[in-house]
Amino acid sequence: DVTATKGNEFEDYFLKRELLMGIYEKGFERPSPIQEESIPIALTGSDILARAKNGTGKTAAFCIPALEKIDQDKNAIQVVILVPTRELALQTSQVCKELGKHLKIQVMVTTGGTSLKDDIIRLYQPVHLLVGTPGRILDLTKKGVCILKDCSMLIMDEADKLLSPEFQPSIEQLIRYLPSNRQILMFSATFPVTVKEFKDKYLPKPYVINLMDELTLKGITQFYAFVEERQKITELGYSCFYIHAKMLQDHRNRVFHDFRNGACRNLVCTDLFTRGIDIQAVNVVINFDFPKNSETYLHRVGRSGRFGHLGLAMNLITYEDRFNLYRIEQELGTEIKPIPPQIDQAIY
Ligand code: ADP
Ligand code: MG
Repeated sequence: DVTATKGNEFEDYFLKRELLMGIYEKGFERPSPIQEESIPIALTGSDILARAKNGTGKTAAFCIPALEKIDQDKNAIQVVILVPTRELALQTSQVCKELGKHLKIQVMVTTGGTSLKDDIIRLYQPVHLLVGTPGRILDLTKKGVCILKDCSMLIMDEADKLLSPEFQPSIEQLIRYLPSNRQILMFSATFPVTVKEFKDKYLPKPYVINLMDELTLKGITQFYAFVEERQKITELGYSCFYIHAKMLQDHRNRVFHDFRNGACRNLVCTDLFTRGIDIQAVNVVINFDFPKNSETYLHRVGRSGRFGHLGLAMNLITYEDRFNLYRIEQELGTEIKPIPPQIDQAIY
Protein backbone atom coordinates (compact mmCIF):
# COMPACT_ATOMS: atom_id res chain seq x y z
CA ASP A 1 0.00 0.00 0.00
CA VAL A 2 1.96 2.91 -1.37
CA THR A 3 -0.05 5.54 0.43
CA ALA A 4 0.70 4.19 3.91
CA THR A 5 3.70 6.38 4.57
CA LYS A 6 5.09 7.62 7.85
CA GLY A 7 4.62 11.12 6.55
CA ASN A 8 8.32 11.80 6.12
CA GLU A 9 9.65 14.37 3.71
CA PHE A 10 12.80 14.12 1.64
CA GLU A 11 14.09 17.10 3.65
CA ASP A 12 14.12 14.93 6.76
CA TYR A 13 17.17 13.01 5.53
CA PHE A 14 19.52 16.02 5.39
CA LEU A 15 20.49 15.28 1.81
CA LYS A 16 22.80 17.46 -0.26
CA ARG A 17 20.84 20.39 -1.63
CA GLU A 18 21.71 19.45 -5.23
CA LEU A 19 20.35 15.96 -4.68
CA LEU A 20 17.14 17.29 -3.18
CA MET A 21 16.71 19.50 -6.26
CA GLY A 22 17.12 16.45 -8.52
CA ILE A 23 14.52 14.52 -6.52
CA TYR A 24 11.94 17.27 -6.75
CA GLU A 25 12.65 17.93 -10.41
CA LYS A 26 11.99 14.28 -11.08
CA GLY A 27 8.55 14.92 -9.65
CA PHE A 28 8.92 13.01 -6.40
CA GLU A 29 7.09 14.95 -3.74
CA ARG A 30 7.55 12.63 -0.81
CA PRO A 31 9.28 9.34 -0.17
CA SER A 32 7.36 6.12 -0.80
CA PRO A 33 7.19 3.60 2.11
CA ILE A 34 10.20 1.62 0.91
CA GLN A 35 12.14 4.85 0.54
CA GLU A 36 11.13 5.99 4.02
CA GLU A 37 12.43 2.73 5.41
CA SER A 38 15.60 2.37 3.44
CA ILE A 39 17.05 5.86 2.90
CA PRO A 40 17.84 6.72 6.54
CA ILE A 41 19.09 3.21 7.30
CA ALA A 42 21.30 3.03 4.21
CA LEU A 43 22.82 6.37 5.20
CA THR A 44 23.91 4.92 8.54
CA GLY A 45 26.06 2.38 6.71
CA SER A 46 24.01 -0.64 7.71
CA ASP A 47 23.46 -3.63 5.43
CA ILE A 48 19.89 -3.91 4.20
CA LEU A 49 17.69 -6.72 3.00
CA ALA A 50 14.59 -5.11 1.55
CA ARG A 51 11.54 -6.68 0.07
CA ALA A 52 8.78 -4.66 -1.56
CA LYS A 53 6.41 -5.11 -4.46
CA ASN A 54 7.18 -4.02 -7.98
CA GLY A 55 6.44 -0.42 -8.70
CA THR A 56 6.94 0.81 -5.14
CA GLY A 57 10.05 2.88 -5.86
CA LYS A 58 12.91 0.56 -4.94
CA THR A 59 15.28 2.16 -7.48
CA ALA A 60 15.24 5.55 -5.81
CA ALA A 61 15.29 3.81 -2.41
CA PHE A 62 18.89 2.80 -3.10
CA CYS A 63 19.94 5.47 -5.64
CA ILE A 64 19.22 8.34 -3.26
CA PRO A 65 21.49 7.09 -0.43
CA ALA A 66 24.08 6.04 -3.02
CA LEU A 67 24.20 9.52 -4.54
CA GLU A 68 24.24 11.09 -1.09
CA LYS A 69 27.21 9.01 0.03
CA ILE A 70 29.39 9.62 -3.00
CA ASP A 71 32.14 12.17 -2.54
CA GLN A 72 32.29 13.73 -6.00
CA ASP A 73 35.72 15.25 -5.34
CA LYS A 74 37.20 11.83 -4.90
CA ASN A 75 38.08 10.13 -8.18
CA ALA A 76 37.11 6.56 -7.34
CA ILE A 77 34.29 4.09 -7.83
CA GLN A 78 32.37 4.40 -4.57
CA VAL A 79 29.16 2.57 -5.39
CA VAL A 80 28.42 -0.48 -7.56
CA ILE A 81 24.85 -1.34 -8.49
CA LEU A 82 24.45 -4.90 -9.74
CA VAL A 83 21.47 -5.80 -11.90
CA PRO A 84 20.62 -8.92 -13.92
CA THR A 85 20.02 -7.34 -17.35
CA ARG A 86 21.35 -4.65 -19.67
CA GLU A 87 17.94 -2.98 -19.93
CA LEU A 88 17.72 -2.66 -16.19
CA ALA A 89 21.28 -1.34 -16.03
CA LEU A 90 20.45 1.40 -18.51
CA GLN A 91 17.21 2.25 -16.77
CA THR A 92 18.87 2.39 -13.36
CA SER A 93 21.73 4.55 -14.59
CA GLN A 94 19.16 6.88 -16.09
CA VAL A 95 17.45 7.25 -12.71
CA CYS A 96 20.85 7.98 -11.10
CA LYS A 97 21.62 10.59 -13.73
CA GLU A 98 18.25 12.27 -13.31
CA LEU A 99 18.31 12.31 -9.53
CA GLY A 100 21.95 13.40 -9.61
CA LYS A 101 21.40 15.99 -12.32
CA HIS A 102 22.78 18.81 -10.18
CA LEU A 103 25.64 16.78 -8.76
CA LYS A 104 28.91 16.11 -10.52
CA ILE A 105 28.74 12.36 -10.17
CA GLN A 106 30.02 10.25 -13.04
CA VAL A 107 27.84 7.24 -13.76
CA MET A 108 29.01 4.39 -15.97
CA VAL A 109 27.05 1.41 -17.31
CA THR A 110 28.77 -1.84 -18.15
CA THR A 111 27.16 -5.12 -19.16
CA GLY A 112 28.06 -8.25 -21.01
CA GLY A 113 27.48 -8.34 -24.75
CA THR A 114 29.09 -4.95 -25.39
CA SER A 115 32.65 -3.96 -26.23
CA LEU A 116 35.02 -4.71 -23.37
CA LYS A 117 37.63 -2.45 -24.94
CA ASP A 118 35.26 0.54 -24.87
CA ASP A 119 34.61 -0.09 -21.20
CA ILE A 120 38.32 -0.24 -20.47
CA ILE A 121 38.86 3.09 -22.23
CA ARG A 122 35.91 4.60 -20.35
CA LEU A 123 37.41 3.54 -17.05
CA TYR A 124 40.44 5.78 -17.65
CA GLN A 125 38.00 8.63 -17.07
CA PRO A 126 36.53 9.29 -13.63
CA VAL A 127 33.70 6.98 -12.52
CA HIS A 128 31.96 7.37 -9.16
CA LEU A 129 29.04 5.02 -9.65
CA LEU A 130 29.12 1.86 -11.70
CA VAL A 131 25.93 0.08 -12.79
CA GLY A 132 26.11 -3.26 -14.51
CA THR A 133 25.89 -7.01 -14.65
CA PRO A 134 28.11 -9.09 -12.35
CA GLY A 135 30.13 -10.98 -14.98
CA ARG A 136 31.35 -7.91 -16.84
CA ILE A 137 32.17 -5.98 -13.69
CA LEU A 138 34.15 -8.95 -12.39
CA ASP A 139 36.05 -9.16 -15.71
CA LEU A 140 37.03 -5.51 -15.53
CA THR A 141 37.97 -5.85 -11.88
CA LYS A 142 40.18 -8.88 -12.47
CA LYS A 143 41.92 -7.01 -15.28
CA GLY A 144 42.73 -4.29 -12.78
CA VAL A 145 40.95 -1.55 -14.72
CA CYS A 146 37.97 -1.43 -12.44
CA ILE A 147 39.24 -0.67 -8.95
CA LEU A 148 36.89 -1.33 -6.07
CA LYS A 149 39.05 -0.58 -3.04
CA ASP A 150 37.01 2.56 -2.33
CA CYS A 151 33.68 1.02 -3.17
CA SER A 152 31.98 0.90 0.20
CA MET A 153 28.47 0.35 -1.09
CA LEU A 154 27.35 -2.67 -3.11
CA ILE A 155 23.73 -2.69 -4.21
CA MET A 156 21.95 -5.73 -5.59
CA ASP A 157 18.69 -4.95 -7.34
CA GLU A 158 16.41 -7.85 -8.28
CA ALA A 159 18.54 -9.70 -5.77
CA ASP A 160 16.68 -12.97 -6.18
CA LYS A 161 17.69 -13.12 -9.85
CA LEU A 162 21.24 -12.12 -9.01
CA LEU A 163 21.52 -15.08 -6.69
CA SER A 164 20.86 -17.56 -9.48
CA PRO A 165 23.76 -19.86 -10.46
CA GLU A 166 24.35 -17.62 -13.49
CA PHE A 167 25.44 -14.66 -11.38
CA GLN A 168 26.11 -15.68 -7.79
CA PRO A 169 29.67 -17.01 -8.25
CA SER A 170 30.74 -13.74 -9.91
CA ILE A 171 29.17 -11.72 -7.13
CA GLU A 172 30.96 -13.70 -4.45
CA GLN A 173 34.26 -13.11 -6.23
CA LEU A 174 33.51 -9.41 -6.62
CA ILE A 175 32.82 -9.00 -2.92
CA ARG A 176 36.43 -10.01 -2.21
CA TYR A 177 37.63 -6.86 -3.96
CA LEU A 178 35.56 -4.58 -1.75
CA PRO A 179 36.99 -2.81 1.31
CA SER A 180 36.19 -4.21 4.74
CA ASN A 181 33.88 -1.32 5.62
CA ARG A 182 31.57 -2.18 2.73
CA GLN A 183 27.84 -2.27 3.09
CA ILE A 184 25.55 -4.45 0.99
CA LEU A 185 22.00 -3.50 0.11
CA MET A 186 19.76 -6.17 -1.37
CA PHE A 187 16.43 -5.28 -2.95
CA SER A 188 13.84 -7.60 -4.38
CA ALA A 189 10.16 -8.39 -4.58
CA THR A 190 10.82 -12.02 -3.66
CA PHE A 191 13.48 -13.71 -1.61
CA PRO A 192 13.67 -17.44 -2.20
CA VAL A 193 15.10 -19.62 0.56
CA THR A 194 18.39 -19.82 -1.35
CA VAL A 195 19.09 -16.24 -0.32
CA LYS A 196 19.63 -17.32 3.26
CA GLU A 197 23.03 -18.88 2.72
CA PHE A 198 24.35 -15.83 0.88
CA LYS A 199 22.87 -13.48 3.46
CA ASP A 200 24.35 -15.41 6.39
CA LYS A 201 27.76 -15.24 4.77
CA TYR A 202 27.93 -11.67 3.51
CA LEU A 203 25.38 -9.65 5.42
CA PRO A 204 24.72 -11.62 8.59
CA LYS A 205 23.01 -8.81 10.49
CA PRO A 206 21.16 -6.73 7.94
CA TYR A 207 18.39 -4.30 8.67
CA VAL A 208 15.40 -6.20 7.29
CA ILE A 209 12.62 -4.33 5.55
CA ASN A 210 9.61 -6.32 4.47
CA LEU A 211 6.79 -4.40 2.93
CA MET A 212 5.13 -7.32 1.25
CA ASP A 213 1.57 -7.98 2.19
CA GLU A 214 1.29 -11.53 3.35
CA LEU A 215 -1.22 -13.69 1.59
CA THR A 216 -4.38 -14.39 3.52
CA LEU A 217 -7.52 -16.49 3.10
CA LYS A 218 -9.60 -14.00 5.02
CA GLY A 219 -12.82 -13.17 3.25
CA ILE A 220 -12.56 -16.18 0.96
CA THR A 221 -15.24 -18.84 1.19
CA GLN A 222 -13.83 -22.22 0.29
CA PHE A 223 -15.78 -25.22 -0.93
CA TYR A 224 -14.93 -28.64 -2.20
CA ALA A 225 -16.78 -31.14 -4.34
CA PHE A 226 -15.88 -34.82 -4.51
CA VAL A 227 -15.59 -35.85 -8.14
CA GLU A 228 -14.07 -38.54 -10.25
CA GLU A 229 -11.28 -37.49 -12.58
CA ARG A 230 -13.45 -38.13 -15.66
CA GLN A 231 -16.25 -35.96 -14.26
CA LYS A 232 -14.05 -32.89 -14.08
CA ILE A 233 -14.49 -31.70 -17.66
CA THR A 234 -18.01 -30.44 -18.43
CA GLU A 235 -18.71 -28.04 -21.24
CA LEU A 236 -20.79 -25.13 -20.06
CA GLY A 237 -20.25 -22.89 -23.04
CA TYR A 238 -18.37 -20.02 -21.38
CA SER A 239 -15.56 -18.51 -23.38
CA CYS A 240 -12.17 -18.86 -21.73
CA PHE A 241 -8.58 -17.85 -22.28
CA TYR A 242 -5.60 -19.84 -21.19
CA ILE A 243 -2.03 -19.21 -20.18
CA HIS A 244 0.89 -21.58 -19.72
CA ALA A 245 4.68 -21.61 -19.78
CA LYS A 246 5.13 -22.92 -23.30
CA MET A 247 3.30 -20.04 -24.92
CA LEU A 248 5.25 -17.27 -26.59
CA GLN A 249 5.92 -14.38 -24.24
CA ASP A 250 4.05 -11.95 -26.50
CA HIS A 251 0.97 -14.06 -26.48
CA ARG A 252 1.24 -14.51 -22.74
CA ASN A 253 1.50 -10.79 -22.19
CA ARG A 254 -1.54 -10.21 -24.33
CA VAL A 255 -3.67 -12.71 -22.44
CA PHE A 256 -2.44 -11.33 -19.13
CA HIS A 257 -3.30 -7.83 -20.25
CA ASP A 258 -6.77 -8.83 -21.45
CA PHE A 259 -7.43 -10.62 -18.20
CA ARG A 260 -6.24 -7.67 -16.16
CA ASN A 261 -8.48 -5.18 -17.91
CA GLY A 262 -11.48 -7.49 -17.87
CA ALA A 263 -11.68 -8.12 -21.63
CA CYS A 264 -11.32 -11.78 -20.77
CA ARG A 265 -13.13 -12.92 -17.68
CA ASN A 266 -12.36 -16.62 -17.48
CA LEU A 267 -8.80 -17.81 -17.47
CA VAL A 268 -7.54 -21.36 -17.39
CA CYS A 269 -3.99 -21.37 -16.10
CA THR A 270 -1.18 -23.34 -14.54
CA ASP A 271 0.78 -22.40 -11.43
CA LEU A 272 2.86 -20.22 -13.72
CA PHE A 273 0.23 -17.60 -13.14
CA THR A 274 -0.10 -17.81 -9.37
CA ARG A 275 3.23 -16.44 -8.12
CA GLY A 276 3.57 -12.79 -7.49
CA ILE A 277 0.52 -11.97 -9.53
CA ASP A 278 -2.19 -10.19 -7.70
CA ILE A 279 -5.34 -9.37 -9.55
CA GLN A 280 -7.78 -8.00 -7.03
CA ALA A 281 -10.70 -8.32 -9.41
CA VAL A 282 -10.48 -12.12 -9.42
CA ASN A 283 -13.30 -13.32 -7.21
CA VAL A 284 -13.54 -17.00 -8.04
CA VAL A 285 -10.69 -19.49 -8.18
CA ILE A 286 -11.39 -23.09 -9.20
CA ASN A 287 -8.77 -25.67 -8.37
CA PHE A 288 -9.35 -28.07 -11.22
CA ASP A 289 -6.48 -30.16 -9.94
CA PHE A 290 -6.10 -29.81 -6.21
CA PRO A 291 -2.65 -28.56 -5.17
CA LYS A 292 -0.26 -30.89 -3.40
CA ASN A 293 0.85 -28.47 -0.70
CA SER A 294 -0.48 -25.58 1.31
CA GLU A 295 2.00 -23.07 -0.08
CA THR A 296 0.69 -23.61 -3.61
CA TYR A 297 -2.89 -23.51 -2.35
CA LEU A 298 -2.26 -20.19 -0.64
CA HIS A 299 -0.62 -18.70 -3.73
CA ARG A 300 -3.55 -19.75 -5.89
CA VAL A 301 -6.40 -18.83 -3.60
CA GLY A 302 -5.04 -16.31 -1.09
CA ARG A 303 -5.08 -12.55 -1.41
CA SER A 304 -2.72 -9.86 -0.33
CA GLY A 305 -3.94 -6.74 1.32
CA ARG A 306 -5.84 -6.05 4.45
CA PHE A 307 -8.96 -4.90 2.75
CA GLY A 308 -10.95 -8.06 3.06
CA HIS A 309 -11.76 -8.63 -0.59
CA LEU A 310 -14.42 -11.28 -0.81
CA GLY A 311 -13.80 -14.34 -2.90
CA LEU A 312 -14.80 -17.89 -3.57
CA ALA A 313 -12.57 -20.93 -4.01
CA MET A 314 -13.92 -24.16 -5.47
CA ASN A 315 -11.88 -27.30 -5.15
CA LEU A 316 -12.44 -30.40 -7.22
CA ILE A 317 -11.34 -33.26 -5.03
CA THR A 318 -10.75 -36.79 -6.23
CA TYR A 319 -10.43 -39.80 -4.00
CA GLU A 320 -6.62 -39.46 -4.10
CA ASP A 321 -6.77 -35.79 -3.06
CA ARG A 322 -8.69 -36.33 0.14
CA PHE A 323 -5.71 -36.50 2.51
CA ASN A 324 -4.20 -33.41 0.91
CA LEU A 325 -7.47 -31.63 1.51
CA TYR A 326 -7.44 -32.39 5.23
CA ARG A 327 -3.73 -31.60 5.55
CA ILE A 328 -3.95 -28.25 3.75
CA GLU A 329 -6.96 -27.26 5.83
CA GLN A 330 -4.99 -28.04 8.97
CA GLU A 331 -1.76 -26.41 7.91
CA LEU A 332 -3.48 -23.21 6.87
CA GLY A 333 -5.88 -23.24 9.81
CA THR A 334 -8.78 -22.74 7.47
CA GLU A 335 -12.03 -24.44 6.64
CA ILE A 336 -12.90 -25.91 3.25
CA LYS A 337 -16.56 -26.93 3.34
CA PRO A 338 -18.57 -29.27 1.16
CA ILE A 339 -20.28 -27.39 -1.60
CA PRO A 340 -23.91 -26.51 -0.81
CA PRO A 341 -26.63 -26.95 -3.45
CA GLN A 342 -26.92 -23.18 -3.79
CA ILE A 343 -24.19 -20.55 -3.40
CA ASP A 344 -25.23 -17.13 -2.20
CA GLN A 345 -23.72 -14.56 -4.59
CA ALA A 346 -23.22 -12.11 -1.76
CA ILE A 347 -20.32 -14.13 -0.40
CA TYR A 348 -18.12 -13.35 -3.40
P1 ADP B 1 10.37 -0.93 -8.29
O1 ADP B 1 11.85 -1.04 -8.56
O2 ADP B 1 10.02 -1.07 -6.85
O3 ADP B 1 9.56 -1.85 -9.14
P2 ADP B 1 10.66 1.66 -9.49
O4 ADP B 1 11.85 2.11 -8.76
O5 ADP B 1 10.88 1.20 -10.91
O6 ADP B 1 9.90 0.54 -8.68
O7 ADP B 1 9.61 2.86 -9.43
C1 ADP B 1 8.32 2.76 -9.98
C2 ADP B 1 7.82 4.12 -10.42
O8 ADP B 1 7.57 4.95 -9.28
C3 ADP B 1 8.80 4.89 -11.28
O9 ADP B 1 8.12 5.47 -12.36
C4 ADP B 1 9.34 5.96 -10.36
O10 ADP B 1 9.75 7.10 -11.06
C5 ADP B 1 8.16 6.23 -9.46
N1 ADP B 1 8.54 6.72 -8.11
C6 ADP B 1 9.52 6.22 -7.32
N2 ADP B 1 9.59 6.90 -6.16
C7 ADP B 1 8.64 7.86 -6.20
C8 ADP B 1 8.23 8.89 -5.30
N3 ADP B 1 8.79 9.04 -4.12
N4 ADP B 1 7.21 9.70 -5.69
C9 ADP B 1 6.62 9.53 -6.90
N5 ADP B 1 6.96 8.58 -7.80
C10 ADP B 1 7.96 7.75 -7.46
MG1 MG C 1 13.03 -2.36 -9.61
